[in-house]
Amino acid sequence: MDDGVAQFSGEFSRRLKALRDEHNRDVWRRATARGGGGSRAGQRLQALLSDGRYLSAIRSGAWRADGGAESRQGLYYRLIIRNHLKTDPELSRILQRANGLIGAFERGHGRDTHKNTLHCLLNDDDRKRRQGVWQRRERLEERLHPLVTACIDRRNRIARDLGYEDFAELWADICGLSGAQTDAILNAAATAIEPAYARLAEKWRGQGGSLAPWDMLYAVNRPLRPFDRLFSFRNLMPVYNDFTRRAGFDGRARRLAVHPLDMPYNALTFIERVPDRIHVLCNQTDGLRVWKILYHEFGHFLCARYNAQDDYAYQWEDSPCYHECMAQVFNLFAGNGRWLSRYFGTAGAKIGEYDKQADIYRYGDWLANAKMERDIYRCPEGEGIGFLRVRQRVRNYTFPYHYFLNAPFHFMHMLLGEFFAKLIHREMQAGFAPSYPFAPEMAGFLIENFYAAGSAEDWKRKVGRVTAVSWDAAGLARQARQIFEGTGGTADAADDRVLV
Ligand SMILES: [Zn+2]
Repeated sequence: MDDGVAQFSGEFSRRLKALRDEHNRDVWRRATARGGGGSRAGQRLQALLSDGRYLSAIRSGAWRADGGAESRQGLYYRLIIRNHLKTDPELSRILQRANGLIGAFERGHGRDTHKNTLHCLLNDDDRKRRQGVWQRRERLEERLHPLVTACIDRRNRIARDLGYEDFAELWADICGLSGAQTDAILNAAATAIEPAYARLAEKWRGQGGSLAPWDMLYAVNRPLRPFDRLFSFRNLMPVYNDFTRRAGFDGRARRLAVHPLDMPYNALTFIERVPDRIHVLCNQTDGLRVWKILYHEFGHFLCARYNAQDDYAYQWEDSPCYHECMAQVFNLFAGNGRWLSRYFGTAGAKIGEYDKQADIYRYGDWLANAKMERDIYRCPEGEGIGFLRVRQRVRNYTFPYHYFLNAPFHFMHMLLGEFFAKLIHREMQAGFAPSYPFAPEMAGFLIENFYAAGSAEDWKRKVGRVTAVSWDAAGLARQARQIFEGTGGTADAADDRVLV
């Protein structure tokens, strides 16, 4: 092993922890407008991780992530690659210009994307206005296109420089999966999700006469809107507190600060310090959709809150797809039939049916974006046309430029995370019947098997211990088909006219 890698000592870990904590506090202050400017701790953190010896060890192949996922060196390997991407001057310039265009677009239409773009596509009864928003987004996308292409090429070049085939392969490695495993899950999920999505779109088309891309989100959301008042923001924490009590969580699960804030992302979790300072920021809107987003954030919160590791390296969930899996494990409680009927009585069953329809859309959206993102990094260098061709195939979806540029493969993490979360739920359902999801042993099960170890144990081993997952590509494909086969139940379940 190269000298550079051998540098990792307790001292390195302590410095990293101190700088990370300070940086997280700076980011939190900035997000809540209690402070301004950049984070000096963030710059020092980047400088610490930018040591050329580490990168040359990666480039020479002397240091690989595989085989050492749970060792500190395996964790630092990923951290250093991600820091390298973040600090690349050319990539930073491209992202800065792209984010400038996105910011100008958002300011041109009001306070932010959430309220003025997504919110309109979800809720505006005026079809012309929805169409207008969609078309403005498409014009923004056209302006972003050269920058997106430049971003793809730059990321691919960085990946090749580090010994990967392309950025898609680098990112699969960051997740702790091979490209073949990733493709197996995505392709198998597609065989179940795409027909369900096509059936749902066909049904809506039959009702509304036509179905334009700007109708899709609206059609998903509309049947759920009459129930929005049940999912009031005020009611959110009492239900969460009751549920966590019943599921066996102690008081630590309820020491949670939720801060309403108007922002372009749906919701974010800020972890200042593990385990004692964690905040959740969110848009203050009513509705099951928002509750489910917040249950996802609460999943991140619980993971950090019950992390029992002293070593800095093990306090953070290392793999982004497993990180989202842990959030989705908690998110899935919010759509559960028993959970819905306990808290919303007889309305629960109807809400559940409509929510399953929303799942079809959500999975279709995640899947299209996940596959698109993997495909576009495989286009030959400089082939912007390749990007457009891939993009064309997923015309009906909203292109998530925010995420594509700033949080690569977010939708792949969501879909893979959902797959593993559903595998875990299948075990909990079998193990804790008949009281699932209210069995008081559930908290202990999650803390012991997942939360407490943090990254001190490889995530695949954790998932493998409690589920019958088989990790070869064929086994993953078989299980992904099973898991997603029931997606959405029957698309005919909800019979209301959804389009006007
Ligand atoms: Zn998340």
